[in-house]
Amino acid sequence: MYKVAIVGAGVGGSYLSYLLARNGVDTIIFDFRAPHEKLCAGGITYKATAKFPVLEELPCPRKVVWKSAIISPQDRMVTIDLSKPLTIFNRIDLDSALLRKAQESGAHFRKERVRSFALEGDRWRIFTESGEYRADILVGADGALSRTRKKLQSPLEKGEYFFAVECFLRVQRDFVAFKFYPDLEGYLWAFPRVDSLAVGIVAKECTREKYSDVKEKLLSFVEAHYPTQKKGIAIRGAYIPFFSAEDPQDQSICSKNWALIGDAARFVDPISGEGMYYAIYSAEILAACIKEDQVPLYQGLCRKHFGRNLLKASQGFDYIYQTGFIEAMAALAGKSTAIRQIISEMIVGNIDYLTWKRRLRKKLVRIVADFMLNADFATKKEVMTNFVSLRYPR
Ligand SMILES: Cc1cc2nc3c(=O)[nH]c(=O)nc-3n(C[C@H](O)[C@H](O)[C@H](O)COP(=O)(O)OP(=O)(O)OC[C@H]3O[C@@H](n4cnc5c(N)ncnc54)[C@H](O)[C@@H]3O)c2cc1C
Repeated sequence: MYKVAIVGAGVGGSYLSYLLARNGVDTIIFDFRAPHEKLCAGGITYKATAKFPVLEELPCPRKVVWKSAIISPQDRMVTIDLSKPLTIFNRIDLDSALLRKAQESGAHFRKERVRSFALEGDRWRIFTESGEYRADILVGADGALSRTRKKLQSPLEKGEYFFAVECFLRVQRDFVAFKFYPDLEGYLWAFPRVDSLAVGIVAKECTREKYSDVKEKLLSFVEAHYPTQKKGIAIRGAYIPFFSAEDPQDQSICSKNWALIGDAARFVDPISGEGMYYAIYSAEILAACIKEDQVPLYQGLCRKHFGRNLLKASQGFDYIYQTGFIEAMAALAGKSTAIRQIISEMIVGNIDYLTWKRRLRKKLVRIVADFMLNADFATKKEVMTNFVSLRYPR
């Protein structure tokens, strides 16, 4: 009999089991394949390493980068020095290190798939392929296609996921790159890891045609930049749930004896696809609620700490992904140090969606002066036309 049973030992589940075990809570965590190389770019923002120093302290390899390249829909390239570093992990290294930490703190790990569960009185009966376990509290940390969510809440529908494709190249790089396309609500990334370069695309709308179009875009990028790598390339795909402004307010992610964290709770930034920070953050909030015997407070606390930012991201998605906006920002960035600083702060997570417009307004005079002095007539005209054509969110 355990106090807490966690389904899924990804970043969220393992971090939660570490925090609980450290507080003396009897915890068991299940995962049939952990630790494994989950399909992921592996990028952790500075915002995440600063808030959760455990990520810095983990004894595992990582790549730290200080430079970024942005390629606009019209192939305008800007390089940006980052004010703080981005850290990139192989997921198997990160997930293994977190799970090891949890086990060293006293959490029990079973490499088993949870097949079903049922409430009997006040206790959960949890069934895996090898046995039956009992616990007071059940946590779904089982990722994008969470079956725990499906049973306790409602399954995610097709339109509630982004999809992503990714491949790994045998190439060493020292900067991250983001490429945008005129006909894609999403972006391509190239993230250097210790042993490879992760190149992938995340996109809205998962239709069959879109999927082949996105795969084609990925292959063209590899061909253009790393032609020797195209032969035998293995492309894999995965879903990314996203936090949506259309979520009903009362869509519950907890009750008195169960909760969902990370991807299972849809805690992913819809603009950037960043999910690990929110998986870890939601784990921290839930651990505090469990410690105080206040699991029902968990959802409200998530909303208070990071929900408003995710909501803002969700409301701003259509605006940001307008071709004109990205093109104009890239053109401005090419001519203005102030705008490059703001973009740098956004990439590393030091500016959130609630405050970026305020930061932009503060530097507006400098940005306009930089631009008027440095840009030629054609670029000035293009940027003005792009801004005028933007559809502003209501
Ligand atoms: C291509 C791609 C690129 C991404 N890049 C980034 C990035 O650079 N930075 C970032 O922050 N986020 C990124 N994300 C998002 C990020 O991967 C997720 O948000 C994050 O992993 C969520 O963590 P989690 O612990 O909630 O779930 P996961 O890490 O998905 O872990 C869930 C675990 O549950 C286990 N599980 C599932 N069902 C069961 C079961 N029935 N029984 C037992 N175990 C089960 C799985 O095996 C898995 O190990 C990316 C996602 C994708 C798809």
